[in-house]
Amino acid sequence: MNIHEHQAKQLLKKFGAIVPNGEACFTVQEVLEKAKKLNLKKYVLKAQIHAGGRGKAGGVKILDNLVDLEKAAKDLLGKKLVTHQTGPNGKEVKRLYLEEPSNIKKEFYLSCLIDRASSKIAFISSDQGGMDIEEVAKKDPSKISTIKINFSDDIKDEDCKKIVQNFNLDDDANLKCINIIKSIYKTFISTDASLIEINPLILTKENNIVCLDAKISFDDNAIFKHPELLELRDLNEEDPTEIEASKHDLAYIKLDGTIGCMVNGAGLAMATMDIIKLHGQEPANFLDVGGGASKEKVSAAFKIILSDKNVKGILINIFGGIMRCDVLAQGIVEAAKETKIDIPLVVRLAGTNSEEGKKILDESGLKIISASDLGDAAKKIVKQVK
Ligand code: ADP
Ligand code: MG
Repeated sequence: MNIHEHQAKQLLKKFGAIVPNGEACFTVQEVLEKAKKLNLKKYVLKAQIHAGGRGKAGGVKILDNLVDLEKAAKDLLGKKLVTHQTGPNGKEVKRLYLEEPSNIKKEFYLSCLIDRASSKIAFISSDQGGMDIEEVAKKDPSKISTIKINFSDDIKDEDCKKIVQNFNLDDDANLKCINIIKSIYKTFISTDASLIEINPLILTKENNIVCLDAKISFDDNAIFKHPELLELRDLNEEDPTEIEASKHDLAYIKLDGTIGCMVNGAGLAMATMDIIKLHGQEPANFLDVGGGASKEKVSAAFKIILSDKNVKGILINIFGGIMRCDVLAQGIVEAAKETKIDIPLVVRLAGTNSEEGKKILDESGLKIISASDLGDAAKKIVKQVK
């Protein structure tokens, strides 16, 4: 789960990190009221969407007065902001963050994430932070350093020193930076985060260290431990079909192709997507119905796949282990009738009671194309959608 910049900053502040003062706003009026309260010489207005690259796309504005601020707020609210992270359709701006401006002397990059390969926590840092960090990573990766630390409740001073080393700060700023790193680490551990990214972390002209941007992603598998974080979820930022799928305990990710897939098991789902591509077509989704797919679950899965207008055919690929193929076939038949499927449906069943399952499909009166194995299934569905 991801949260907005203003929420991430509030959370970091709670754990002791230094962030600029600011207020989240949902209307132009609110922006003006809160601006009057903050009473600043200049204002920073930032579009709140779950994507970076806002600065380059016009989503971060520095305004000199309330008239310009009002204009900028009107312009940004409701706008579809297209950044290099949103995809071509962009994301609609539904909330803004009004913030005090910082006097930037230097921009750094700092992030903290889980390094699964080494089972450690990695801190990534660079003195070339800011809006071009992707370019730096591509062209001059030596400018980016990674420090891996062993998991524990606190981060050691010696590790902090290694992380801040290439920022080349004076003693005073170094200490401030180490304190921020400790706060970030505390936030990371306490909230079961999978990523905290501060880009830019800045050195101000007043020699302070401030988190000027913040992104936090949480581990979905641990979110049940943090009901207070779940309240920060913004469903506007999530794909509606993926939200619907999660209600039915289906693992669904929408993709751009034309062949809908319904599969049990994540590995089999990956293999099914691969073999569709091998035969020259693109999958419309990843969908794992899980081990114990009931009729209700299969029906919900059909509805979700069919709600994607790009889908021209569906491939069902089931390996019956604990799940019996005859029970599943019954579910497919009932769900297919209920949802009145009118696009080609290819089904491959293998494993427990697969013969009984095929018989149910054959006798259902539905136009279901049966396949003998995975390759055969992929060929058949690809032929159908062509
Ligand atoms: P994004 O990463 O989505 O482009 P950022 O929050 O990093 O958005 O902002 C982009 C740039 O805008 C920053 O690198 C910084 O130069 C400037 N900026 C952002 N917030 C402030 C602020 N409060 N005061 C001054 N400049 C800011
Ligand atoms: Mg940024």
